Amino acid sequence: MICPRCKAAMIELKRTFHKQRKWVCPDCGRIRFQKVRPPVPRRPTR
Ligand SMILES: [Zn+2]
Repeated sequence: MICPRCKAAMIELKRTFHKQRKWVCPDCGRIRFQKVRPPVPRRPTR
């Protein structure tokens, strides 16, 4: 994840927020959220 403002590598926080990964730019402090991929859906049982 790269900061769209200063193009700096963002740091991922361990804590998730609403099932979204939180990224913080060490340079400008901008916070960005990345949606976590939902779990792989199981095959439909029939
Ligand atoms: Zn930044």
